[in-house]
Amino acid sequence: MIVSMQEKATEEQIYAVIETMEEAGVNVHRTTGAIQTILAGVGPTANVDLSKFEVLPGVLNVIRISSPYKLAGRAFRPEGTVIEFRNGVKVGGEQVAVMAGPCSIESREQMFATAARVKAIGAGFLRGGAFKPRSSPYAFQGMGIPGLQMMYEAAQEHGLLTVSEVMEIAQIEPMLPYVDLFQVGARNMQNFNLLRELGQARKPVLLKRGIAATIEELLLSSEYIMAGGNYEVILCERGIRTYETATRNTMDISAIPVIHKLSHLPIVGDPSHGTGRRDMVAPMARAAVAAGADAILVEVHPNADKAASDAAQTLYLDQFDELMGQLRVIATAVGRTM
Ligand code: PEP
Ligand code: MN
Repeated sequence: MIVSMQEKATEEQIYAVIETMEEAGVNVHRTTGAIQTILAGVGPTANVDLSKFEVLPGVLNVIRISSPYKLAGRAFRPEGTVIEFRNGVKVGGEQVAVMAGPCSIESREQMFATAARVKAIGAGFLRGGAFKPRSSPYAFQGMGIPGLQMMYEAAQEHGLLTVSEVMEIAQIEPMLPYVDLFQVGARNMQNFNLLRELGQARKPVLLKRGIAATIEELLLSSEYIMAGGNYEVILCERGIRTYETATRNTMDISAIPVIHKLSHLPIVGDPSHGTGRRDMVAPMARAAVAAGADAILVEVHPNADKAASDAAQTLYLDQFDELMGQLRVIATAVGRTM
């Protein structure tokens, strides 16, 4: 159930409503937006008499949520979620954020060269995987924490934020000092134990859509994180597996407006994994921004053809520069800034 409070509801009134909801046996999640406070009651609400809440002082209206996700649903934060990072970078809202970097962290030189260039081109986040979920156990598995330290230092030097994939619970704590945003990869979208643990983390989470996941399953996975009290979740469309083999995955651009309608969470477009092909990355990045993506995540590398992973879909830095020029024009056309 969702209880929307009146604009001028007092703290005492809000507390009284929370108390009554808890007495009814539901867990209360509170969000205070620019205009009003919203209280989401999660739990067995089927038999709760909603009219009892409608008459409490300060209450504007009460609705029963029929969708299986409660906290990720639009009604919890009708105005949309904006996640604020250090350096004034925001994800959600008017600004379209940019996350760029190699698939894998390979060396200090690679990360410093990439950081300098992506910062100059206009990215806010430096990406790079230190723990890599590879299809083959014989493929490069990533540099681990020493690699993350390299990325962090390069990002610090150039005033960038960092995003990197966490594959298991045991990695959360050692990664904390080096990442601003934890990435949960497509293969772990339904690793519910990991999601629950990230619900306790003190850092935002970028949750990628699973290779064969529906939008509803993606939203339910975000609910695992939010139910733990971490509301700073960013979703990511990175392509899904279909019968089409011309591209590595099928980039579901329509997921972007669908998610904006169903949820208040920001949604990122990842045209690199979405296509798997360098020549298709720019068109799909342009499409993602045109469709309303709140950020784009692009794999770039100073020597793209030689990248240790995902070389075929990795842009050269000059290509990324050219793409950003195009994206700024598109962002302006759809009422955003970049
Ligand atoms: C990645 O970002 O490099 C990655 C492995 O992504 P995904 O989980 O979407 O395959
Ligand atoms: Mn990759």
